[in-house]
Amino acid sequence: EIADLALEADCLVGPGHAFTPWTGMYAHHQSLAECYKDRADQISYVELGLSADSDYADRISELEERTFLSNSDAHSPWPNKLGREFNQMEMSDLSFEDLKNAILRRGGCSPTLNVGFYPDEGKYNRTACTRCYRFYSPEEMRDRRGRCECGGLIKLGVRDRVEMLADRPAPVHPDHRPPYLHLIPLAEVIAMALGIKGVFSAKVQKTWNELVMGRSEIEVLVEADLSELEVDERVADAIGAFRSKEVFVEPGGGGKYGRVRLLDHSNSTKDDDQRSLFDF
Ligand SMILES: [Zn+2]
Ligand SMILES: [Zn+2]
Repeated sequence: EIADLALEADCLVGPGHAFTPWTGMYAHHQSLAECYKDRADQISYVELGLSADSDYADRISELEERTFLSNSDAHSPWPNKLGREFNQMEMSDLSFEDLKNAILRRGGCSPTLNVGFYPDEGKYNRTACTRCYRFYSPEEMRDRRGRCECGGLIKLGVRDRVEMLADRPAPVHPDHRPPYLHLIPLAEVIAMALGIKGVFSAKVQKTWNELVMGRSEIEVLVEADLSELEVDERVADAIGAFRSKEVFVEPGGGGKYGRVRLLDHSNSTKDDDQRSLFDF
């Protein structure tokens, strides 16, 4: 119905937040064919949502030929939620035509990088109660008919849903699949480094503004020469820890985000008043 109209109007069609337990396509269907019927082969992309990445989705062989998008969305009222996931595309023109070509991987255009959350950090990664956030296994959820001890509703997590749908024991990435970069927002890295709770605190915002002067947040996180950053040593160390993936993720579920923490990589023992992320 909607897919028909969209395809007729020359749009691209694919599921957004494909695995999330409320409205995701895979929450209600076993396959693209079951959902889109004879239109399934015209589904050109799958938007993964925060709780999944390419490693999750490439365990499902019917997705092999589809482009993966890691999009942010604009239905949350906080500006820091914008751009928290994004895609990098090779395009010759900043036009819808070329964006379309990139998603369809033709005419020299293609996606070159997916960037997003650690899937564990997503708020529906694990199977959990939507009221008290207690974790359950899918079997427990079934035995309890989807009800938590507290009476709340248990939602099947994306990780468990992918496990049920997967026809491959491990991800197999096709040649066209770009790398997936897991990101921690720079403001969160700064806050953790300085041992400050909120990303909106003046100190964090000031440091953020200084760091992104003349370049993007991603350049700071991924490319900038750490020894040349004019910034608190703890922040530079934290960016280094992020780059070497010294990251611990406390998983999310039931609608509550997980938490990401950076692990100590500077073996130095610091004074009490310098307590920071390295104390976790
Ligand atoms: Zn959303
Ligand atoms: Zn509960």
